[in-house]
Amino acid sequence: MGKLLIVGSVAFDAIETKYGKTGKILGGAATYIGLAGSYFNLKSGIVSVIGEDFPQKNIDILTDRNINIDGLEVIKGGKTFFWSGKYHDDMNGRDTLETQLNVMADFEPKVPENLQDAEVVMLGNLHPLVQLSALEQMKNPKLVILDTMNFWMDNSWDDLLKVISKVDVITINDEEARQLSGENSLVKANQVIQKMGPKTVVIKKGEHGALLFQGNHMFFAPALPLEEVFDPTGAGDTFAGGFAGYLTQTKDFSFENMKQAVVYGSNLASFCVEKFGPDRLLDLKTEEVFNRLKIFKSLTQFDIDLP
Ligand code: AMP
Repeated sequence: MGKLLIVGSVAFDAIETKYGKTGKILGGAATYIGLAGSYFNLKSGIVSVIGEDFPQKNIDILTDRNINIDGLEVIKGGKTFFWSGKYHDDMNGRDTLETQLNVMADFEPKVPENLQDAEVVMLGNLHPLVQLSALEQMKNPKLVILDTMNFWMDNSWDDLLKVISKVDVITINDEEARQLSGENSLVKANQVIQKMGPKTVVIKKGEHGALLFQGNHMFFAPALPLEEVFDPTGAGDTFAGGFAGYLTQTKDFSFENMKQAVVYGSNLASFCVEKFGPDRLLDLKTEEVFNRLKIFKSLTQFDIDLP
């Protein structure tokens, strides 16, 4: 069985959308990646840090879905990372209201022995040096995927380029791809980013789906058009978790298989946005996942008569 190592935040989030407002709920990039990955046949483990204020019931949510938490460090007397955000009415844009790094500020990741041999490494959005440190502890990963955000482009450019040069795949949203590359066209942005190191570039376009590039190959998967998006928080991480999870399960890192992985990622992300926080990822039935994959297929498959 394939093993997936996940490095990222395990957090408290407070979210506001036009449908309502939450108190402090379970969040964090590693949480969403881990929950999405748990829908595949694999072993996974999270490397992260929390404070003593993090309730046992949240930890149980992870372990109930068979996510290994040997690498989840608890800092005595510490406070868990906290993020709050407010979505615009179109549900695409959002403003970060507050980020409290708390225990994340001094995080030194320690990858437990039993996770160092994972074939696939998913480096969730964190300080690039933390991502680098975790990666250096791995024995011989076959595929390293990195997610990042504009914050690190603004504040830790050199460190970010260092970690980007060491990964196989980068997942990034469209605005961030433009910022990272200095190119407006996403095709050109991908070409610039490939030159930085990753052979595969995945550009997430929110409700407009995702693009996959490798060398000169290109593939596009839509996002499922939904009647209502309740809360987009974690959709990007869920996409990444689905992408990484499918590749870990199949152990096939070819471009053809990555196309499937993108569809699995988009499919899981479409569930994530249906409820506040990670709630929808907790009660999903395998049948629902497969039924929606069928909808994805019929949405994009067409025969065309060529002259
Ligand atoms: P997404 O909606 O996929 O971009 O991810 C949202 C998640 O990212 C939330 O659950 C937050 O807890 C987490 N997050 C937000 N900002 C940061 C940050 N600077 N470092 C690590 N995690 C973050």
